[in-house]
Amino acid sequence: MSDVKFKKIISHAKEYGFVFQSSEIYDGLSAVYDYGQNGVLLKNNIKEYWWKSMTQLNENIVGIDSAIFSHPTTWKASGHLEAFNDPLIDNKDSQKRYRADNLIEDYIQKVQKKLDKELEKNKKRFGECFNQETFMFTNEKAKKYNKEIDDLVSSLNKALKDENLDLLKEIIVSRNISCPVSGTKNWTDIKQFNLMFSTKFGASSETASNLYLRPETAQGIFLNYMNVQKSGRMKIPFGIAQIGKAFRNEIIARQFIFRMREFEQMEMQFFVKPGTQMEWYDHWKKNRMNWHLSLGLDEKNYRFHDHDKLAHYADAACDIEFNFPFGFKELEGIHSRTDFDLINHEKFSSKHIKYYDPKDDSKYTPYVVETSIGLDRMFLAIFSNSLSTELLDDGSERVVLKIPKILAPYQCAVLPLVKKDGLAEYAEELIKPLKLKFRILYDEKDAIGRRYRRQDALGTPFCLTVDYQTIDDKTITIRDRDSMKQTRIKVDELEKFLYKSFDISNWLK
Ligand code: ATP
Repeated sequence: MSDVKFKKIISHAKEYGFVFQSSEIYDGLSAVYDYGQNGVLLKNNIKEYWWKSMTQLNENIVGIDSAIFSHPTTWKASGHLEAFNDPLIDNKDSQKRYRADNLIEDYIQKVQKKLDKELEKNKKRFGECFNQETFMFTNEKAKKYNKEIDDLVSSLNKALKDENLDLLKEIIVSRNISCPVSGTKNWTDIKQFNLMFSTKFGASSETASNLYLRPETAQGIFLNYMNVQKSGRMKIPFGIAQIGKAFRNEIIARQFIFRMREFEQMEMQFFVKPGTQMEWYDHWKKNRMNWHLSLGLDEKNYRFHDHDKLAHYADAACDIEFNFPFGFKELEGIHSRTDFDLINHEKFSSKHIKYYDPKDDSKYTPYVVETSIGLDRMFLAIFSNSLSTELLDDGSERVVLKIPKILAPYQCAVLPLVKKDGLAEYAEELIKPLKLKFRILYDEKDAIGRRYRRQDALGTPFCLTVDYQTIDDKTITIRDRDSMKQTRIKVDELEKFLYKSFDISNWLK
């Protein structure tokens, strides 16, 4: 997708009250965004869809809401103080700062694009006789690009795994990677940069202590593991889910709400018996992919990416990547975190954090498999994938946000055909008994065609039009957002129709 299309997505989000740059009147705050009147509804609906799938579909998963602040030792125990770093590099001419690994990844994508172009060219040339596998092994250019990608991926992984900053720099220099802004290769050395925000806690400067804003919600769950297990009499395997803000001082923050400094995560830590973690890891990989697919965005937009470089706490990890406007990128992480966190909290707190398993009379520290999805990235995935411009039969265009119906900010809009002759009053009366049961919008401004377009742009699945016939025979027109088809139903059947259309059990199975 082109930059132009991505810019359209960002401006649509602003124009229709979904996402605003934070502190815009002061020229904005980099990588911080606010959700507007429609954005907050879409966001809440995504949260609810996730929360229900975790805590209502699984009787062994409960939810919590832990504080953003926690005791500073939390971050020593979790390893974040020591290891939550990104490799940072500056370009001396543009004074721009980059993540060294991202620069290399972008370069790899460029080579991949060249390879794809070559492939397309030859597909066209040879038509039916084209065989992709043979082409990859025989065509000189394809062989060259493929080898370059393989070499780059393996040296990048090695450099990251060994935390070898010299090797990272060498990759950048040897491939002549230049700064996208200045175009020069005048780079500084690479430094490690800790992503946690710190702040002072306490009223007086003498007694105030240093605290961190949490960079992930997971630690709040680990700190509460014993509380939940005991008070809920939970039996392993069981999970704890949480939705909440996380903060990271990202080195570069671009791509709209994809990479923010303040963002929201939806995480679930699943506690299992040591030795069974791989079974559960596979289980949650499948489960999470099915959750994504249940929303009906094209299957082709998702793929798994297994990690070669594992975080300091993991024994297996993968991402669910989504085809964002700027290519496939991480949307959700699934990690087998071992007993790293609980063991360390036990060590640093000197408290007993063990599970007694009555099944075989054993005592152990549980292993953890986690699923961690960025709410804002999920928002962007849905929003960017749903926005489309359609050419209509009469030659005009319509912009429509084909959000999965279950997540739409408003489920329906009630529109009197005209304001006069009692139609507006009829429409208002119609809404009264429904407005606490459904998310309904009322609009009487402008001509009906323009109101339909506005609801299309907001992603409202149904427009209900009250016209003269409604008053005569108590029927109402329902216009479907996607097909634009209009059908009439009895006003008495409206509530049933809406319940059926937005019954979450038809989506989450
Ligand atoms: P990335 O490699 O893109 O920096 P990550 O691997 O560091 O992401 P995790 O620590 O696994 O991310 O966090 C879990 C999820 O939280 C990610 O899959 C992503 O959806 C979301 N997330 C992480 N960082 C950000 C951010 N800065 N802004 C928005 N969402 C984020």
